[in-house]
This record gives sequence, C-alpha cells and structure tokens, in this order.
Amino acid sequence: MTDTYENLTKEDARSILLMPDEELPKLLEAAYSLRKKHKGNIVDIHLLTNARSGNCTQNCAYCAQSGQAKTDIDTYELITCDKLIKDGYVVKEKKLARHCIGLSGIRFSDEAILAFAEEIKRLKKAADTPVCCSIGFLTREQAAVLKKAGVDRINHNLNTGRNYYPNICTTHTYEQRIANIQMLKGMGFELCCGGIVGLGEKPEDVVDMLFEIQTINPKAVPINFLIPIKGTALENQSTAILTSEYCLKVLCLARLLNPDSDIRCAAGRELYLKGKEKWMFYAVDSVFASGYLTAGGESIDSTIKMIRDAGFEYCIEPG
Ligand code: SF4
Repeated sequence: MTDTYENLTKEDARSILLMPDEELPKLLEAAYSLRKKHKGNIVDIHLLTNARSGNCTQNCAYCAQSGQAKTDIDTYELITCDKLIKDGYVVKEKKLARHCIGLSGIRFSDEAILAFAEEIKRLKKAADTPVCCSIGFLTREQAAVLKKAGVDRINHNLNTGRNYYPNICTTHTYEQRIANIQMLKGMGFELCCGGIVGLGEKPEDVVDMLFEIQTINPKAVPINFLIPIKGTALENQSTAILTSEYCLKVLCLARLLNPDSDIRCAAGRELYLKGKEKWMFYAVDSVFASGYLTAGGESIDSTIKMIRDAGFEYCIEPG
C-alpha cells in the first residue's frame, strides 16, 4: 500500500481500519488531498424531513420506525404538504444544498406514490430545491412517477456488508437492495448510497460495504454511526468500537474509495466526532443539520458556525 493509498485491495482497506491511531494523520492527509481536488474546502448541508414515520413492516435492528421496535416516536402516514413545503422554505432560505425526504416502509401502493408525487410537485413549485427521497423498494412505474414529479436523486443505503446483513434484517435481503439500486441507476436517477457503522459488524464488513458502494459509484455516500435507540433491537449494542479515531478511519476510507462522491457524515457525528470536526472535514464534504429521522441533531446555524470554526467553507450555492 502506497502513502497515497491508491488502488486499495480489501486487505489494504481492512489494514486502514485497523491501523494504529498514530498513523491517522498520514491517512487524513491522503483523504484531504482527494477531498481538496474534487470538492475544494466546501461543506454542504442537507436537511432531512421524515415524510412518513413508523409502522414499518420490516425488522431492521437499528431502526426506531420498525413495527417491531418498542419506541414512542410519532407515527403518521404522510406528512402534510404544508409541513413539507415549510421545510423546503428552510432549505431555500438557509441556502442548504438539498432537501432529503425519508418515508418509512419498504413497499408503497400506487395510490400512496401518486399522493406523494403530488406533494413533491407542490414542493418543487413552492421552494424549488434539489430533492432526494429515501423510499424503500419502488416499482419501475412508481419510480417514473416520482421522477416526473421532480425527484432527481434517490437514497437507498446498503447499511452494512453483504455477509453481515442477515444479522440486522431478515425481512428483506441485501440482493433486493442491490436490485432496487440498479433499477434506479438504469432509469437515470442520481444515487445516494451509504450505510451504518457500529451495528456489531467487523471491520471487514465495513470494507465489504464500502467496496460494494464503490461499484455502484453513487453521487453521495452518507455514513452513519449507530445511535442505539431505546426500544430497538440494538438498544444495548456496544458502541465501544466507535472511537473518534475509528470513525475518522471509516470516513477516510469512504473518501479514498469514492474520491469524487459527496462523502457525508450523517447520524452520530454529534456523538462520536464532537470537537474533531476539523479532522472529519479532511474526508467529509457534507453533513446533515437539524437532526435525523428519529434523532435530534445540531441546529443549522450552529452547524454553519462549526464548519467555519473548523476552517472550512459553507456552501452557499444549492447543487
Ligand atoms: S430502515 Fe426503513 S425498511 Fe428498515 S425498518 Fe426502518 S423504515 Fe423500515
């Protein structure tokens, strides 16, 4: 393995995740040279709206929205269009890069997709921000309806490595996720595809996931670090592995394998990388503000300040 960490094999990637912390500065420099080349010093901010909450038929072990989780989150079918547009105005006024919209659930009726598409059309007309939807498995026809309504990017995460996947979900398969992603890619959607670290997986599972993502070549790679939520199957999952150094190694590896993608530090940044944001931005060029689907997070203004305090530039041009 060279100091530029080029042409990494899976074994090289595993060595990076297991390297002594003293070697981290060299890794951060290598990640930063790619980040600087492809993204300059810009950081962009995304806002997440939970457009359908809870009551999901699936059993993803980390998820508070699974019907099998015993959580007290708000549950609702489809957010009102007024609330969606209100969030769209926030994205527009604060000059955030993108409005990300998540819907709990894995399959939707055609009627539900049509109703959601109408909301997207109204949102685009009112706020006209770039929109990305996270919306389970779609049929080709449903995806076409959403594309026509103005959705240009879709998020579909792999969540973990193929071999570890049955440990976190048994109600659908990894292959189904890959097939959905390939269908969307073939239809011309931009893709956002990432995962969650800290689910009890081994470093080689993280490596498998990141190599699979490299093959997909998405526009954006959101990396979440597990926030164990009370009432989910992973509420007692140890997060001892999630030292800030390990999180930084994962983010650097994501950058090395996907040099020109947006690398986003998503859920968990406030928990595991507090005070280390400067180093995080050596690899990362994108974050969420105002929280996650079912967990709170840093406010938009505080996030902008944090980006500038870390010596990076807040992106003021949507894109
Ligand atoms: S991650 Fe998605 S599919 Fe899995 S339980 Fe949560 S809402 Fe359902």
